[in-house]
This record gives sequence, structure tokens and C-alpha cells, in this order.
Amino acid sequence: MTELFTAAVIRDKGGPFRIEQVRRRAIADDEVLVRVVATGMCHTDMVARDQIFPVPHPIVLGHEGSGIVDEVGKNVHELEKGDHVVLSFLNCNVCDPCHEGHPAYCANFNAWNFSGQRIDGSHVLEADDGTLLNDRFFGQSSFAQYAIANARNAIKVRKDAPLELLGPLGCGIQTGAGTVMNALKVAPGSSFAAWGGGAVGLSGVMAAAAIGATTIVAIDIVPSRLELAMELGATHTINSKEENAAERVKEITGGGAHSAMDSTGIAALVSAMVSSLRPSGTAAVVGASKPGTMAEIDLVDVMQSCKRLIGVVEGDSVPTTLIPVLVDLHMSGRFPFDRLVKFYDLDRINEAAEDSEKGITLKPIVRMP
Ligand code: NAD
Ligand code: ZN
Repeated sequence: MTELFTAAVIRDKGGPFRIEQVRRRAIADDEVLVRVVATGMCHTDMVARDQIFPVPHPIVLGHEGSGIVDEVGKNVHELEKGDHVVLSFLNCNVCDPCHEGHPAYCANFNAWNFSGQRIDGSHVLEADDGTLLNDRFFGQSSFAQYAIANARNAIKVRKDAPLELLGPLGCGIQTGAGTVMNALKVAPGSSFAAWGGGAVGLSGVMAAAAIGATTIVAIDIVPSRLELAMELGATHTINSKEENAAERVKEITGGGAHSAMDSTGIAALVSAMVSSLRPSGTAAVVGASKPGTMAEIDLVDVMQSCKRLIGVVEGDSVPTTLIPVLVDLHMSGRFPFDRLVKFYDLDRINEAAEDSEKGITLKPIVRMP
């Protein structure tokens, strides 16, 4: 066991995050120790805190970490001490989807990301009083000064990029951008509609703009988010409280969008999204809804217009390739995701969670002491 360091621990369903002193065990041969600089916060941390998604408590959450490699296991050859890394989701690397180049669709995703332990059942963290802590959330548990990750979910990034900003590239931002770039393959000159203008939706808007989509529609009910969407590359916005969004998308795009992404998780919006595609258009479901949620889809419309509806996790990204691309786009001014973030020191992590849930902050990033 090591010296004490600081972490945010969830002990009770629903929170709060408690700032505690914890210890860690030695890293395994295929792992890296990362001194965390900052960690983004996303809805998945909340659903784990609230045990809507059944992760074991007490646990250290945090799954959008960025930091500096402090130590590498003896089988790690692609990283060295001092490297700057973004921590992303972990995959098993041995199932069919992993072999086929879709690590986000790993058949063992839950065991590697949500079980609160290593895949062999061991733990890396311990509370000050020696009691067990669950850990390895998304293969990192990065709401802490140190995180233990596997080499394959610690993505090396260029050192001239602002490291404390980069953590959200590991999940939320990668999800929106990857859905546009990998799953929908939004083409230059095409139309794209983002249903929902939160961190995920606006990342999709920025990616579509960077790729060269020429009609980019953002749909939300919060005017400030629609204004920001215009600044990030949207060409049109729709307030779906005030207008029939499906009809407006068809008007704006001259017959329907080539591609669309829903990040609201609202069934009625998914139905509207599908109805507002052009023939042969593709719509992606990305937003989380309650298990059992059903959406009405006009099957004749889908068949006759040859439409596609797909579900997408983590943007179908290969983090090792996508994250450095997003960093390059950001550094050249074409992916200004810094416009979405607000920084909070670790001792204000509960305020970050509250601001996120109230919609005050699009993407909180928690700075480690
Ligand atoms: P967010 O809450 O910031 O964004 C949702 C947006 O939808 C908000 O801007 C909100 O105003 C808007 N909205 C709500 N009701 C609406 C309505 N009736 N009409 C139009 N817009 C409406 O959340 P986010 O961080 O952007 O994440 C979006 C979703 O994606 C969440 O459900 C999250 O859990 C999920 N997610 C999925 C993956 C994945 O891999 N599939 C990864 C990360 C996040
Ligand atoms: Zn796998």
C-alpha cells in the first residue's frame, strides 16, 4: 500500500461525493499509474452515483481523466513516464467486436468498465481505515489524484495541448464526434441534424462542421444552447418547444436530413428524427433512456424511404486513433470544445454535479489538487 492521496468517494446511493484520503496497491504488468490533472464529469457518473446503473458502492467514479504517466507496468511498451494521456473506456481486446475494430462494442464492456474491480476480481484502492473501495470505473476511477488504467485505455496525446481540458475527449465529446465521424460518416456537403444540444449534441455539431457538412441543424429547448450551437458551426437552430421540429428539419434540408443523432433519449424525438430523414438517411440513437422505452416508428416510411436507425455507443470510436485527431482539430481551431467546459476544483465536485444536472454547465471539468 502507498501513501495517502485524495479521491472523491461515493458511499451512498445518490451521493454526495466525499473528499477522502485513500491508498492504492501496486500496478499490474499491463497497467499504468497516471497522476490525474483533471477529469470531466458526465451523466454516466450520475447514473452510477444514483445506482440507476448498478455499480457497487462505495466507489471512486470519474471516467474522463487526463494526466501524466507516472509509472508503467513491465509489459507496457507504448507509454513511458512523463507522457500526457487521456483516459478512455476499457475493452477486453479478445471478443469478436474488439477483434473487428469496434472496441466500444466490446461484448464484455460492463465487466471491464462497471464492475468496480479489475477483471480478475482484485481492487486497486483502499480507504484510509483499510476498508475496501470499489474502483476501476471505466478502467480508471479518475476523480482522484492518481488513477490506475490499462495501457490500452490511456491514450497518448501531444504535449503542447492543454492537458487539463482534454479529459472529456475520453467519453462525452468522443461520443458526439465519433457518432458523426465513424458511425454516421457524415459527408462533406451533406446535412446533419443534432436532436439535443448538450455536450454530446454540440460535439456532433462541431464534428459535422469540421468535416464539411453544409447544413447543420441543432434542436433543443434551451435558447442559450441553440445560440452556442450557431457559434460552434450550426447553420440553423430549432426550438422544439416553439416549432414542429420534424417539419422544420425537412424544410431546412430540402426534403430531410442525410443524417441525424439523438442525444435527448426522448422517444418522441427519436420518432420525429426518423420521420425527418431524407430517403436513405441514417439516424443514430445515442441518448440514454430508461430500459423498456419504446418509440413509434412508421414502418412504411422506413421501408419505402430505405431509412436506417442505428444505436451507437462511445461514437463507435477507436480511442487511440480518434482522440489524437480531435486534439489536432482542437489545436487548429476547428473543434472548439473548450467553449462547453467550466472548471471546478475537486473540493467543489458536488457543485459541479449540481450545475451539470441543472443544465447550468454543459461540461464540468474537475481539477485535481
Ligand atoms: P445533456 O443533458 O447536456 O444534453 C441533452 C440535451 O437535450 C440538453 O441540451 C437538453 O436541453 C435537450 N433536451 C431535453 N429535452 C428536450 C426536448 N424535448 N427537445 C429538444 N431538446 C431537449 O446531456 P449530454 O451530456 O449531451 O448527454 C446526452 C445523452 O447521451 C445522455 O443521455 C448521456 O447519458 C448519453 N451518453 C451516451 C453515450 C453513448 O455512448 N451512447 C455516451 C455518453 C453520453
Ligand atoms: Zn471486447
